[in-house]
Amino acid sequence: RAKAAGRGGHAFFEPAMRKAAEDHRLLENEVRKALQTNAMRLAYQPIVTARGRRLVAREALLRWRHPVRGDIAPHVFIPVIEDSGLIHQIGDWVIHEACAEAAHWEDEVHVAVNISAAQLPGDRLADTVLDALNRSGLDPKRLELEVTETVFLGEDADTLASLERLRELGVRLVLDDFGQGYSSFGYLSRAHFSKIKIDQNFVRQASAGDRNSLAIIQGILALANGLGVETTAEGVETAEQAGLMRNLGIDQLQGFLYGRPEFVEPGTNAIGDARFEAANAS
Ligand code: C2E
Ligand code: MG
Ligand code: MG
Ligand code: MG
Repeated sequence: RAKAAGRGGHAFFEPAMRKAAEDHRLLENEVRKALQTNAMRLAYQPIVTARGRRLVAREALLRWRHPVRGDIAPHVFIPVIEDSGLIHQIGDWVIHEACAEAAHWEDEVHVAVNISAAQLPGDRLADTVLDALNRSGLDPKRLELEVTETVFLGEDADTLASLERLRELGVRLVLDDFGQGYSSFGYLSRAHFSKIKIDQNFVRQASAGDRNSLAIIQGILALANGLGVETTAEGVETAEQAGLMRNLGIDQLQGFLYGRPEFVEPGTNAIGDARFEAANAS
């Protein structure tokens, strides 16, 4: 890119980096405002059994509707939240909210909550989960905490201790987006996961005829079966993809074919509500 601009790298990159930093700062201010104006909420997406399409869980996914810019995607604002340190405050709210919500579900399916790597070190996460379970009365077995491999990048004993403490609370640990990024099978021996979610890129590529992606999925499945770990395929959009994943022996499917992330109770339960204040007052 610097070359295409026809001058030295510095002359090109500096303004671009300054602009990125500025955008980041602006977005961070917007996030702070969003927390005061109930602009963030959780949507839930169904996860079904591959055989029989029985609903087994719903994944909580954070949604932000900006008054001017409209919906802002998590891949845009989650990194900003992580960098700013707001991830602890928002992450706590997500856990409290998802547990309180799921405790009311008559079907008693699991609820899956995404956890950022930055939330793991220290006692705060396990304390929050315990508090959320106590307040909501949710059976710990119904709570699935989804982490990605990035939690292991620091090789931090503190992170492993935190994962272990969470598991001792009786909640289920799930390895999300497996196959993306660093994908070391060794990570699977470092913590006790109940489930592996196969990244949606593999699902898409394998069903498009990519033999390498297919081989990787088969490898992950062999590993999961050997470890006695459940599997979910993410991003299933077509009946063909579902058929392929089912035939490969994947346990559960998640994707637009079965349902998009949707709000359970429109207009309620945003950050800034009483429940959030209560959760953060303690
Ligand atoms: P994820 O945990 O892997 O969540 C699955 C993502 O795939 C969601 O994107 C979902 O809307 C999308 N998806 C599901 N089915 C399909 C499909 O059939 N086709 C396609 N194209 N996409 C599908 P979303 O909601 O944009 O979230 C993106 C990521 O942001 C999540 O990936 C997760 O890593 C992160 N995230 C979302 N909510 C939270 C949160 O509360 N806390 C944290 N720490 N991260 C979150
Ligand atoms: Mg997830
Ligand atoms: Mg995922
Ligand atoms: Mg993802």
